[in-house]
Parts: sequence; C-alpha cells; structure tokens
Amino acid sequence: MTPGKRKITVLPGDGIGPEVVESALEIIKASGVAVEFEKCEAGARAFQKGIVTGIPTETIESIERTRVVLKGPLETPIGFGNRSANVNLRTLFETYGNIRPVRELPGVQTAFTGRNLDIVIVRENIEDLYAGIEYMQTPGVAEGLKLISREGCEKIIKLAYAYALAEGRKSVHCATKANIMKLTEGLFQRTFEDLAPQYPTIKSKHILIDNCAHQLAMRPEQFDVIVTTNMNGDILSDLTSGLTGGLGFAPSANIGNEVAIFEAVHGSAPDIAGKNKANPTALILSAAMMLRQIGEGKAANDVEQAVLVTLESGLRTSDMIGVDKPATTTGFTQAVIANLGKRSKVSPPKEYKKVEMPPSRLGVNVVLAKSRRLSGLDVYIESDLDPATLAADLEKLTLMSPLKLQMITNRGAQVFPSSGRRVSLVDHFRCRFVLREAATSFGDAEILSLLGTIGAAHRWMHIEKLQEFDGQPAFSKSQL
Ligand code: NAD
Repeated sequence: MTPGKRKITVLPGDGIGPEVVESALEIIKASGVAVEFEKCEAGARAFQKGIVTGIPTETIESIERTRVVLKGPLETPIGFGNRSANVNLRTLFETYGNIRPVRELPGVQTAFTGRNLDIVIVRENIEDLYAGIEYMQTPGVAEGLKLISREGCEKIIKLAYAYALAEGRKSVHCATKANIMKLTEGLFQRTFEDLAPQYPTIKSKHILIDNCAHQLAMRPEQFDVIVTTNMNGDILSDLTSGLTGGLGFAPSANIGNEVAIFEAVHGSAPDIAGKNKANPTALILSAAMMLRQIGEGKAANDVEQAVLVTLESGLRTSDMIGVDKPATTTGFTQAVIANLGKRSKVSPPKEYKKVEMPPSRLGVNVVLAKSRRLSGLDVYIESDLDPATLAADLEKLTLMSPLKLQMITNRGAQVFPSSGRRVSLVDHFRCRFVLREAATSFGDAEILSLLGTIGAAHRWMHIEKLQEFDGQPAFSKSQL
C-alpha cells in the first residue's frame, strides 16, 4: 500500500459485478484521484466455500480498516438457508441509511423525459421485515417480525433532512402504511411529525405509501426527498429507477456512522453476465457518490459530468430503449474516460455541501414510559378444532386463572366470539386472555401456570404480553 493514498475496499461481486466494478475502477484511476483499492471477496463464491454470512473474515477486516466500500451486486441464495450477504453487510456495519438518487439523464429516453425528475429515496436499511426474523409457526403458517424502533426512525429521518439540507432541496415526504400498521409504520410517521418542525426551511409532508406509488407514476415531479421504511423503500426506489431509465442508471449509498458502502441498485443480472453487455452507469455514478463522500468533490463532479457528456453524445448500452448499435461495457467505459474534464451542456455540476451525519448515540437506547401495566396475554395455538370448540375448551381449562379468554382471531380476523363473517381458517389461532373483573393484577407466575394448563391439552408456540405504556394500549386491537 502506498502511504498517503486513501484506501477503498472493493467487492467485485457476482454476475455482471466484476465487469461494472472494473469499469468504475478504471474511470476513478483515470480521474487522477489518489486512492488505492483492496479487492476482496463476498457473495456466491464465499457461500460456496461454506462461509454462511457470504462475507469472509479478510473482507470484514479490510472494511474495518478502510471504512469505505465500492461494491458490485451479490447473489442472494433463494429460499431456505443462507441470509443475503447484502443484508449481512448492511447489518454488520450498521449502514442504516440507503440513499438512492435518480434524475433525468440526457439522451436516456423515458415516458417522463422533459419533466426534469430529480428524486432521492432515503430508505431505512436495517430494521423492518429485512431483519429476517422469521418462524414457521405451524408446518403451514409462516411468521416474520416487523421490528421498528424509535431510535431507528429518528436516525433515518434526521439523515434524510441532513441530505436535503446538503443538497439545497425543498421538500421531504415521509411515506408509510401507518393507516394499517398503526404501531410499526405509525411509529415512523409519528417520529417524522415530531422531528419535522426542527427543519423549518424544508416543506415536510406525510403520504401513504400506496398513494406515493400512484403519485410517482402520475406526477413524479412533485417529489424531492422521500424518506421511508426498509421494505417500502426497496420497492419505491426500484420504481423511481424505472422512471429515469431503469436499473442500469440507478446508483446508491449505504451510509452508517462508521462505514459507507456504495453500489448500484441493480442485481447481478445473470442473464447478461460475462457478455460485455452490462450498463456500467449505475456503478460509475455510485463511485462518484463515494468520491464525494470521501471529500473528493472535484473528481466526483468530473466523473458524473463525463457520464452525462457520454450519454449526450448518443452512446448507448443494450439495456436502453431504441438502440441499434449498442456500446459494450468496455466501449462505454473508454468513452467516459475520454470525456473526463468535459462539462455537460444540459446538466452542469450541482453544488453539494457535506452531509452532516446525525450524531450516533452509544449504549442501549431506551424510550422510558412513566407508567406500565400488564393487561393481558395473547397465546398462539396450533389447532384443527373449530373456533367455538377451541374457545369452550380454553374457557374450561382456565376457569381458575385470573385471566379469561376474551377473543380468538385467525390471521387477524376475529372468529370468537363469532362476528358472523365467514372466515377461511388455518390451524393458527391467536387466543387473547385478559384480566377477570374480580382479579387485580397478574404476573409471570400466573402466565406460566396458564401456559402449563393450556400446554397439557393444546400445542402453543408463541405468546405476547399485552402491555399498556402511560395508559395507552401497546398492542393492536382485533380486526372484525
Ligand atoms: P437484476 O437487477 O440482476 O436484473 C433484472 C434485469 O435487469 C435483468 O434483465 C438484467 O439483465 C437487467 N439489468 C440489471 N442491471 C443491468 C445493467 N447494469 N445493465 C443492463 N441490464 C441490467 O435483478 P434480479 O434478476 O432480480 O437479481 C439477480 C440476482 O442479484 C439475485 O441473486 C438477487 O438477489 C441479486 N441482487 C443483488 C443486489 C445487490 O447486491 N445489491 C440487488 C438486487 C438483486
């Protein structure tokens, strides 16, 4: 390693990864910036060697040293077994913010050409269903936990505003499904509404995620920055990539307090791997974001502008609409290198300030409640009984308990007491027990006794305590 040179970990990745990463590396080198690359392995080859995370120790050590990663796509094993190496990387290095900018590019014809789209999706990158906490609760019923924390919401929402301020942007939309998932997505909306007044120069607005998708297809120019939860952001950011030319043009950054990982939004494209056909633009633009992050603003502008000039010149890869004679990956790369130092006629370099990262809080982050109360218990039971028979049996079994059966639901729909609605049933019942009128309180001893009694007759697989914080129920109500 040459002293004085900024070191960057490079993960060529799978499929088209090595081709598009090589393209970006050649362009970075040609830009004259003083960086040095540490090439490491991750993804399919690591899984084949039996490394269950898909990330070898040497790769982790390199990232811990360099703190900056330029990464090609990594294949995700489908179905049972290993978790995605991408998700493992984000979790391991706490890159909690996924920033996905898209904008209209010269010569890239889309249904929205001429509407000057310039949108950034800021996606929470660690929590939500992507934590991958899943269980088969019965042989036929799967469960995934959607964990959302106040801390996680605050971090990503503050990052979205920091990004908006650094780029001189006008508005931040917060997109959630808080109307249905009132506690999880609702926490994201409430946190946004609590924090928004701290940013009076920016217009803040909440929008439901489904309407957001509709509005993005109808009138995308109304959006500037959109901040959202992990799953919503994954889908929305592919949608916005589609608005501006497709996955081949969409760069991204995974930002944390310690480490930043830069990569294209697209995957390993196995259908065109090794054919010198891949569009390297997304990875080159990701490399430009990386150069900006490490303080090489001029080189970042030069690389971005060279890409724009290349596109303006009419050079096209095969993924672009209406291409007769497509350029190869290497041909496109050489054209960008030849255009370094030139400036776009239609899209001059933008002014960027440094993104002021929200400070990280160490230790366990706690939200305190002034008062707490335990008001009941949900017991999840696997059973092939009809709801009325199951209810009668549970009532008989729990006669001596301070808790009494209040209701039973099947996949969220109330089936006892019957609402009269016909519900298609599976063998997975949520049985809600609440404190009897005569009883004053209960605790773990009563819960364990209740589970012992129920467990002697039925197969239970999961419980949830029903709590109240500061007098407010901390659980969802049943849905009729
Ligand atoms: P994909 O993005 O690899 O491919 C979708 C389509 O877009 C394909 O037709 C492909 O040829 C095309 N395409 C993608 N990038 C292109 C480019 N740069 N130039 C030209 N055409 C391009 O999505 P997929 O097929 O759903 O996923 C393939 C693999 O990639 C899976 O294993 C998936 O898990 C993985 N993946 C990884 C990442 C990542 O590493 N961040 C992201 C998405 C998918």
